[in-house]
Amino acid sequence: MSTRTWRLAAFAVVVAGAMVVLGSCKCPCGKSDGKGAKQAMDIDVTTFGKTPEGQEVKLYMLKNATGATAKIMTYGAIVVSLEMPDSQGQMDDIVLGYDNLEGYLKVSPYFGAIVGRYGNRIGNGTFTLDGVAYSLAQNNNGHHLHGGIKGFDKVVWDHKPVWKADGVGVELSYLSQDGEEGYPGNLKSTVTYVLTNDNELRIDYVATTDKATPVNLTHHGYFNLTGGERDILGHVLMLNANKFTPVDAGLIPTGELQPVKDTPMDFTKPTAIGERIEADFEQLKAGGGYDHNWVLNRTGRGLSLAAKVVEPTTGRVMEVLTTEPGIQFYAGNFLDGTITGKEGTVYQHRWGFCLETQHYPDSPNKPSFPSTILRPGDTYETTTVYRFSAK
Ligand code: BGC
Repeated sequence: MSTRTWRLAAFAVVVAGAMVVLGSCKCPCGKSDGKGAKQAMDIDVTTFGKTPEGQEVKLYMLKNATGATAKIMTYGAIVVSLEMPDSQGQMDDIVLGYDNLEGYLKVSPYFGAIVGRYGNRIGNGTFTLDGVAYSLAQNNNGHHLHGGIKGFDKVVWDHKPVWKADGVGVELSYLSQDGEEGYPGNLKSTVTYVLTNDNELRIDYVATTDKATPVNLTHHGYFNLTGGERDILGHVLMLNANKFTPVDAGLIPTGELQPVKDTPMDFTKPTAIGERIEADFEQLKAGGGYDHNWVLNRTGRGLSLAAKVVEPTTGRVMEVLTTEPGIQFYAGNFLDGTITGKEGTVYQHRWGFCLETQHYPDSPNKPSFPSTILRPGDTYETTTVYRFSAK
């Protein structure tokens, strides 16, 4: 798999971004893992493969001071694996995907990817901006989904390692050309993943453009906190949202904000995902279960808690914090056992769930929704943190 390996390390208490040393060097001052063992933060970069066009794809292995790891590749800015401890300290990979690049190239329902330029759907693949009508690829039942036929999940990103005082990461950037997938403007996007020593995967998104364009970047990880042992119906979910955006049969928002109260969409109190997913509720029909945007109860403009998931058998806990106004909770309803992923695991119905922080779907056609239009001179900046612990 790997043709060339170069190893990067820096001393632990670095002033952010201060020092990158080629060669092998472990951090001497890593944090204790709770069992007395100290670990070194590390970044290890290998070659993961080549695209059919011959572009080389790198795989970053990030290791934090507690021994948790994230593997992120430059194709699609995809999180290929994420190993986090359970309540016994047992490390497991808690995201779906493949063992090798070929799997992702062949078929992937956006496993672990950054999706863009517009995450989620734009109705009929059209919108009008400043009086000009734009037409995008209709790659989802006549609608536009996740940036089109070749979205940000299918391109090779530029990359560089990131050393922070509290973690290690990779900065990925991609220039989407004016007209790509039908969108206006050259859009420069930078996505920085940092695996912190507090077992957080922090994602910072920044973008600028030279023409007004819609932008809605998100991370499309499929999580399974059991480590892929069984489906996700037993995971207990809390969504910090009193309203959601109901959809039509094509999963396009109607434009209303509907209260969740007294419906199976109410996750304000922690509830098992499987408890009401088959309920006789009109909104659960179109996507075959949960596949909706929730309107987050926000306080201020900074990071605020959007969701919390507890997996009772392993004790793993995931919290999602974001600066975004919405979150798509997708229960993996379209997984149907036709994909065999890592280590030969068959991804059966609802084998993973996604919590995609975002602006609401179809915002370019819904003037009442918060705007997703980025203009020249302005900077798109959002942050989402996936925080892991165990109890
Ligand atoms: C969408 C689903 C879609 C899935 C994979 C999710 O973000 O909400 O409808 O099937 O992505 O494409």
